[in-house]
Amino acid sequence: DVDTDTLLRWLRTFAASVAAQKDTLTALDAAIGDADHGANMDRGMAAVVDALAATPPADPAALFKQAGMTLVKSVGGASGPLYGTFFLRMAPATGGAATLDPETFAKALRAGVEGVVARGKAEPGDKTMYDALAPALDALDGALSSGESLADALRAASAAADEGRDATTPVVARKGRASYLGERSAGHQDPGATSAALLVAAAATAVA
Ligand code: ADP
Ligand code: MG
Ligand code: MG
Repeated sequence: DVDTDTLLRWLRTFAASVAAQKDTLTALDAAIGDADHGANMDRGMAAVVDALAATPPADPAALFKQAGMTLVKSVGGASGPLYGTFFLRMAPATGGAATLDPETFAKALRAGVEGVVARGKAEPGDKTMYDALAPALDALDGALSSGESLADALRAASAAADEGRDATTPVVARKGRASYLGERSAGHQDPGATSAALLVAAAATAVA
């Protein structure tokens, strides 16, 4: 099962990938937004790592709450409240458990993504982070219900997130700053879907 240390590893791995991909995320946002997605995510996740080190969380719910509040506080722009809401909505879905079985972890992830949708009103194909997250959740649930281990199911989820991210490229954006460009947003990979795929990949790495 997934314990607090594994979840810490997830968030640290995500922070490290975001730091490594900071320039790529910013370049993607330069094409269809305001060139700050790399800086936003790097600042936010560095603050999350620092906060979790300063105040070690007692359980998964505390970890998610701290991560979410830190992101909301430290990131202006769309991605701060959206990723913040993702983690804040995961917290209660753990039911206060000390370790999460695969189904509970998957349920918490789905609650997080439902929070992103409640906040941002994204629909499939709007060219947002949701286009990476939604197929990842479906792949995760599918793999778990056919009896795969959580590690294998997260690998499948990560592959699905990468496909969802890639599928944002030809699409015209209907949410966020990129939507201001209309047809000119087509032909560019969505920055938020790109960071969201890193989030799912980091989960697969942490649980493997
Ligand atoms: P900002 O656009 O405020 O500068 P960022 O550049 O950090 O914020 O994040 C942009 C990303 O946020 C987009 O690439 C997209 O994936 C995501 N995003 C924007 N609006 C929404 C929304 N309403 N729902 C879901 N995701 C969104
Ligand atoms: Mg931006
Ligand atoms: Mg911005």
